[in-house]
Amino acid sequence: MHKKKVRTMVFLSFFVVGCFVATSYATYQVALQGVWKQITTTDLPLTSDNIYSEIQKDLLMPMFISSLMANDTFVRDWILHGEKDTQAMVRYLKQIKDRYKTFTSFFVSDRTKIYYHAEGILKTVSEYEPRDVWFFRVREMEPEFEINVDPDMANNDTMTIFVNYKVFDYNHKFIGATGVGLSVSFVKALIAKYQNQYNREIYFTDKEGKIVLYNAGTFIEGMFLKNVPGIGNYADAILNNEFYQFSYNFDNKKYFTNTRYIPELGWYLIVNQSDTVSVSKLKIILYIDILLSLLIAGIALFVSIRVLNTYQSRIEHLAQIDTLTGIANRQTFRETIEIALEHAKISQKPLSFAILDIDDFKDVNDTYGHLAGDYILVELTKRIQGVIRSGDFFARWGGEEFVVIFNDCSVNTAFEIADRIRQVAINNSIVYEKQAIVITLSIGLTSFSQHDSSIEIIKRADKALYSAKTHGKNSVCKM
Ligand code: GH3
Ligand code: MG
Ligand code: MG
Repeated sequence: MHKKKVRTMVFLSFFVVGCFVATSYATYQVALQGVWKQITTTDLPLTSDNIYSEIQKDLLMPMFISSLMANDTFVRDWILHGEKDTQAMVRYLKQIKDRYKTFTSFFVSDRTKIYYHAEGILKTVSEYEPRDVWFFRVREMEPEFEINVDPDMANNDTMTIFVNYKVFDYNHKFIGATGVGLSVSFVKALIAKYQNQYNREIYFTDKEGKIVLYNAGTFIEGMFLKNVPGIGNYADAILNNEFYQFSYNFDNKKYFTNTRYIPELGWYLIVNQSDTVSVSKLKIILYIDILLSLLIAGIALFVSIRVLNTYQSRIEHLAQIDTLTGIANRQTFRETIEIALEHAKISQKPLSFAILDIDDFKDVNDTYGHLAGDYILVELTKRIQGVIRSGDFFARWGGEEFVVIFNDCSVNTAFEIADRIRQVAINNSIVYEKQAIVITLSIGLTSFSQHDSSIEIIKRADKALYSAKTHGKNSVCKM
């Protein structure tokens, strides 16, 4: 292949592949932005909202039950009558617990400080016991109730959401605290669901940033938000905002975070997600895209190279042949004679050369017309091709003149062939539009001798042809 052509092809390949890759990458970037947008504007807020509304929904019933308990005349009367029948209260609490399927139910008396629950008496609460401070806080607090998350001593310290309601006597004097507790396992189940289905990390911290609720195995017990790698830098911002949304890079991954404060629990909900899953899917698509692009570019280039080569060889072929007769033209003859002479020189083999000229062709044209002249040229070419040997080279010099290179051929043999050529012209007339036209040929023949150049051999053959013309035409003259 031509050097310039190779360069063009290489450039074209790079250009096409470059364009394909650039397009694929641009598509990937757009999709990536889409994924990020989807995560920040839809996925994370939705998860956060869902969890929040689930929590609210699950808290509503216990709040209602606790309110009923606090206002139950049985509870009040039983206290005012001196907490005499312990079993009556225990039965009542068990009934509540079983009926409403709460995790626990309780009543703590302000007078005796006894903690009753569905199984009996748990203990007596004390101001100096850290586990019991909640009761004294409830006693002093302004609102009627609070929601508090604590380990439940009555249930192996299971993390429990307590609804603590104040109980008053008929003169609005504080006489105790009652309510129910529910396990945080429903929240945990929710966390697990989101975590498994959507690869999102979900957890809760208290107001101080201590991580209080998380899926098993994610954090170390009692860990603080500010110590969590990556997200820790944002701990202050999270704990000072009701809603907070941000993204950060950690461990070569991009993370998106959405946080919100849950006033009912006094907790912060944190939903965190990396784009890894979506991005790796996009990356696979990108790679397939690029691979396909390369394949298509490869095929396109292969096809265009093939087409180009076909056209080029067709053009080259056209440049080498004479359009009227279909044999080699003068340009090809010029190249061929040099090679033939060189070969004869090296191989020491004889070479002969002839120039053929149709006699009085001008008259033929004048008499029968140029189309008849053309037909004769074509017909004569065919006849000559039938006479020369397979190794001989036959070309149209121009006009009504032809040349023959007789390779590996003595001048005597060449003379015989040349004379046969002369005879095929004259022996049978050429019929054109029912007119029989007889033409004759004059042939100048010469043989190659060492140190001959192509010019010299052509000149000599031309001289021989001139001699044939001047000696009556229709003859072969050797020189
Ligand atoms: P001479 O015997 O001396 O060769 O006479 P001539 O008429 O053949 O020679 P001349 O060189 O005077 O004329 C050649 C003619 O050949 C003139 C030209 O019109 C004709 N000719 C050349 N090429 C073509 C061609 O492709 N087709 C046709 N029809 N005629 C051609
Ligand atoms: Mg001529
Ligand atoms: Mg002529």
